[in-house]
Amino acid sequence: MKQADCPFCKIADRRIETELLHDDDVCVAFNDLEPQAPTHILVIPKKHIASLDTATGGDKDVIAHLLLTAAEIARKRGFAENGYRIVVNCNADGGQTVFHLHVHMLAGRRMVFPPG
Ligand code: AMP
Ligand code: ZN
Repeated sequence: MKQADCPFCKIADRRIETELLHDDDVCVAFNDLEPQAPTHILVIPKKHIASLDTATGGDKDVIAHLLLTAAEIARKRGFAENGYRIVVNCNADGGQTVFHLHVHMLAGRRMVFPPG
């Protein structure tokens, strides 16, 4: 299902021109517009899923695919060994601002924990 006004659906179905770092049947990846680390990549499903909170058991394969694709991107782009941070913000207290599920990949600097 595509949402007419969802910015990430527009990127996934190429209504907005964005350089894709990865593109397969299930997901795409691209650089975050406001990077919070030297490398800040978003991995999103092509299917519109508003948030982790609205994902269902039927989305299990899609969600697994997002994480495995993130790991593949990290290895291919050469930052897997140094390491990286995966973040999925959910709803208001989680800091979610775009309501199309996305996996943040942050790399290129030492992360602190817990995140703010
Ligand atoms: P979140 O706060 O987890 O919902 O993250 C949304 C992220 O999407 C933020 O880091 C934004 O900088 C990023 N973002 C929003 N619009 C775009 C866009 N058109 N292209 C790339 N990144 C975007
Ligand atoms: Zn969407």
